[in-house]
Amino acid sequence: MRINRSREHLADEVLVAYLDGEMSKARMRAIRAHLNLCWKCRSALAELETAAEDASRLLAERSKDEIDRSLQARERFLRWRAAFEADQKFFFKCHPHDWVVAGCVLA
Ligand SMILES: [Zn+2]
Repeated sequence: MRINRSREHLADEVLVAYLDGEMSKARMRAIRAHLNLCWKCRSALAELETAAEDASRLLAERSKDEIDRSLQARERFLRWRAAFEADQKFFFKCHPHDWVVAGCVLA
């Protein structure tokens, strides 16, 4: 991929790598030099920047939703468990006699 000739426009992946800073300082300088001369690549870079911001915002929102969902699931489980344990206590405290009676009726 050649980026040091200012007549060649920069490919999207080059611009993305430039945004991420994933290249040598010499390449960054060459790209900056091209961007200074070329409005077409500058506007492409601006578009990519906006797209990257949108994508990271969407990702952040989605992971927040997922956290909310798992918290809700945990709460539902804890409520269910508390209700279950309360039922059990209720059952053992108040119903042994009824069960004996029921056992007698069935026998
Ligand atoms: Zn260009």
